[in-house]
Amino acid sequence: MFKRILIANRGEIALRIIRACKTLDIETVCVYSTADRGAPWLEQADHSVCIGAAPSPQSYLRIDRIIAAAEVTHADAIHPGYGFLSENAHFAEVCRDSGFEFIGPSPEAMALLGDKVSCKKMARQVGTPVFPGTEDAIEDIDDAVKVADEIGYPVIVKATAGGGGRGMRVARDEAQLRAGIESARQEAAAAFGNGAVYIEKFLEHARHFEVQTLGDKHGNAVHLYERDCSSQRRHQKLIEEAPAPGVDPAKRRAVCERAAALIASAKYSGAATVEFLMDAAQNFYMLEVNTRVQVEHPVTEMITGLDIVCEMIKVSAGLPLSVKQSDISVNGHAIECRINAEDPDRGFMPQAGLIETFVAPGGPGVRLDTHARAGYRIPANYDSMIGKLIVHGPTRDIAIARMKVALAEFKIGPMRTSIALHRRLMDHPDFANATFDIHYVERYLKAAAEAESKVQSEGESKLEGARA
Ligand code: ADP
Repeated sequence: MFKRILIANRGEIALRIIRACKTLDIETVCVYSTADRGAPWLEQADHSVCIGAAPSPQSYLRIDRIIAAAEVTHADAIHPGYGFLSENAHFAEVCRDSGFEFIGPSPEAMALLGDKVSCKKMARQVGTPVFPGTEDAIEDIDDAVKVADEIGYPVIVKATAGGGGRGMRVARDEAQLRAGIESARQEAAAAFGNGAVYIEKFLEHARHFEVQTLGDKHGNAVHLYERDCSSQRRHQKLIEEAPAPGVDPAKRRAVCERAAALIASAKYSGAATVEFLMDAAQNFYMLEVNTRVQVEHPVTEMITGLDIVCEMIKVSAGLPLSVKQSDISVNGHAIECRINAEDPDRGFMPQAGLIETFVAPGGPGVRLDTHARAGYRIPANYDSMIGKLIVHGPTRDIAIARMKVALAEFKIGPMRTSIALHRRLMDHPDFANATFDIHYVERYLKAAAEAESKVQSEGESKLEGARA
């Protein structure tokens, strides 16, 4: 087992990894930027090293400085967390070449599953359901038009190197497809240095269904069932839950097994999430594979009782997975709300500054994964997520009831956070009845904004009437 792990990340996930290391009796080293000097999670680390200035390209993305920090502190492994360098195969390779174990897949497995076209090819071979569309990156636009005619419009043009929703265009007819391929190529070339694009069928109404998997270096791979992450805004997940409500048990088992088969065939070690869209008839189509720990991993931990971060560390050290598929069962229901410091009245603008009030919720089945507290100053340089509130209950209804209580107790100020929005979403009939799709939050926000402006303009005209 490792003696000392360097954590190449910050915030709640750095703290989560420190906690896992402590339970395994492993020392931790945190690297941090000048913006994070004195940050709460650093107090929990055994060692910490400043690696540069606040902007992440000068610190959390500096491979050379992270490796240097690992060398001077005699770390033997590096955990990348999520975001930053976690899905950078070059970083994984540099770690390995410098003599540090990268806590994640091999660079080869990461590259294979990280590229959308090669991943989709492999998925087809092992029978993981994928979207109908082009087999390879598009060479000739006329060929793409033929494929679109076969599968039917609408279709979506996507970058093979895609990420963060960039390089995607929906096309509803041939003219839009031709224009979309051109503009997606340009956007992808600028964003990823790779302009290759492909097309697939576009689903208008879908739910986001993702399967948590784990693999080890001995050829074992298991799934930890699924999460539903349909509550999204601008492709960013807001609420995640496990299991996915209302899914046919046989279809669910089949897709979970195919997800595990995919990572097994990639000789994958570590945690991976195979993401799907699910249509109204409960057909599944793979979106992509995330080759790292996910923000929403706690909901899976709550229903399976497994510690995903500990498993990642152990399999990296060469141990076999601690569980077989037959050992893994689902207990109850878990929901996570992402707590973002954002102002919903100003376009969800990130909120930086000093937290003065911080009252944490508690009670049965409540888990709070956060690095924030009263007196913590949120820097303006990073993601606006300051924590995750997770609840577990024997049923989905009880989990929702517990979440409502926890959200009502949770007070953060003076900045605005997503807590108020979560309280409204918990009461939304589409959430409560699980009749949602990935666009319901945006439809709700649009309707709420329109209702608000109507009230305002009516108020103004009344005021004018009174003056007249
Ligand atoms: P990225 O890696 O850029 O995040 P994804 O392939 O994960 O790209 O897609 C991002 C989002 O775009 C998905 O979560 C989904 O909302 C939407 N999307 C992608 N492909 C399709 C599709 N074929 N049909 C409908 N929506 C899609």
